[in-house]
Amino acid sequence: MQTIDTLISAQWVVPIEPAGLVLEDHAVAVHLGKVVEVLPESVAREKFAARRHIALPQHVLIPGLINLHTHAAMTLMRGLADDLPLMTWLSGHVWPAEGRHVSDEFVYDGSLLACAEMLRAGVTCFNDMYFFPEATARAALAARMRAMLGIIAIEFPSAYAADADTSINKGLAARDTFGGESLLGFALAPHAPYTVSDRTFERIVTLARELDIPIHIHLHETHEEIAQSEREYGMRPLLRLDHLGVLGPNLIAVHAIHLTPQEIELLAQTGCHVAHCPASNLKLASGFAPVKALFDKGVNTGIGTDGAASNNRLDMMAEIRLAALLAKGASGDAAAIPAAQALAMSTINAARALGLDEQIGSIIAGKRADLIAIELSQLEATPCFDVVSHIVYVCSRENVSHVWVDGELLLDDRTLIHIDEQEIKAKARLWKARIKP
Ligand SMILES: [Zn+2]
Repeated sequence: MQTIDTLISAQWVVPIEPAGLVLEDHAVAVHLGKVVEVLPESVAREKFAARRHIALPQHVLIPGLINLHTHAAMTLMRGLADDLPLMTWLSGHVWPAEGRHVSDEFVYDGSLLACAEMLRAGVTCFNDMYFFPEATARAALAARMRAMLGIIAIEFPSAYAADADTSINKGLAARDTFGGESLLGFALAPHAPYTVSDRTFERIVTLARELDIPIHIHLHETHEEIAQSEREYGMRPLLRLDHLGVLGPNLIAVHAIHLTPQEIELLAQTGCHVAHCPASNLKLASGFAPVKALFDKGVNTGIGTDGAASNNRLDMMAEIRLAALLAKGASGDAAAIPAAQALAMSTINAARALGLDEQIGSIIAGKRADLIAIELSQLEATPCFDVVSHIVYVCSRENVSHVWVDGELLLDDRTLIHIDEQEIKAKARLWKARIKP
């Protein structure tokens, strides 16, 4: 018998790789944070002596969901201003509130709230963009979650930095500080084409090449963004970024809504990734991302929630369902983005976009044990002909029962183990009183 830390047996295991595989009555052996083996439960019981055996007889085990785009700390501005177009929302509400309140403490408290919410929705890794990334890093570590922190760059002064160069320098210092943390990675995060200068993009391209890290940017979100770029630079944002050398396999283009066929071709040829945020796009009336066309051309596409101020949930289960439905409605093709593809978008595709597909995104021996269990015994999930279809079209985040990151159990039958929910809620209420007394 081989001694291991944990054996998790489940009614179904959907490893995501190889695609389409659904295993029944299987177990996942976990040791030292890694998946050791995926095998039939009866065989596992004879082969492994587990310090802890978790039996999930009415559950499906899948890889942890990856939120490919968020601003975690914005949970503290959830519902502050709704039902407004993007620029009115940003300049009339979000930016003024951020100017008054954003601090290291604000970002830590908001990010920890976000981590708790995301864990309870089956999210094990998030790709973040916000001020004070070092505070989000500390919150992710406190929650024991995996995170890609954005080294934010924005030209106008903020409570975080006077200009883009200072902001990048501070982010690079944070990357040095947290360099030894295996759960954390850092990406360059120029906010958007309309808030970042050519000179700053040139520095970002050089840094991304030197450090071999992703570039995470909002791109082609609104018609106004494109019109402004045409006025100022004589070309659309994507072409401007191409001229500046920003496009390539390191780039994660968030939203990517307004794209010509030539631009989709350009994204495909340069190996760019897309983070699709369907709820945010609908709520801000930004438009419909051409997700089916992106897939048809081979552009790797994942899913993000965006921030809680523009969604207003960090609910990847809802986002996956919406992505699958919206792709059909927007393309007029009911076969667009089938359930298995929607699930792949939020696991292996997102891992690939982050450059982490050797470590996470599927349940394969040797990968880190970032896993979630979804319970399927409820009346609402009965009967079950196709477990993948149920995950995408039937289940909600309340069905997520267990979550592991790096082999460590963080959510046990819907209870957060390391996070004090009462304390987080009390802090969020204090911030509400400060933001809008
Ligand atoms: Zn965003």
